[in-house]
Amino acid sequence: MSEQRPDFLLVCDHGIRDGDLDPAALLPWFPDRPGWWAAEDIDAHVRTWLMEGNRRGWRPWRLVDRTAVDDDPRREAIEIPCPTPRCHRRAYRSDAVRLNTLLTAIAADEAFRAVFAVHADDTVIVVALDALHLARATAKRRFGMRV
Ligand SMILES: [Zn+2]
Repeated sequence: MSEQRPDFLLVCDHGIRDGDLDPAALLPWFPDRPGWWAAEDIDAHVRTWLMEGNRRGWRPWRLVDRTAVDDDPRREAIEIPCPTPRCHRRAYRSDAVRLNTLLTAIAADEAFRAVFAVHADDTVIVVALDALHLARATAKRRFGMRV
């Protein structure tokens, strides 16, 4: 049941009011995994790594080397910074599964998408990096989502 969904393109205004929106990262939809994951060949600055454990309370910044895999179900963390030098926008750092929960909400909920997406059509949903932070805060606070 591999379903096609739009890709996510994250953009950044670099904190400049009415500034140009430059691409920060492309998160293509991978129907086979399924989910939105970093296209590492395109966005070399987007970092993903395996989290040290799957236990409650573990934070994404507790890192282990990607090769140190055992039989625990591993969680992947992702960090999406703006690649533009001297940009002060906060990088988006998250558990990759939680990021997928948030992106699913944006993709599926038209009202949510209207608030946080710059543009949306059948092939791509464009979200600014700072709007993604706001979307996460809203999803947590208003909808109690684990994102
Ligand atoms: Zn930027």
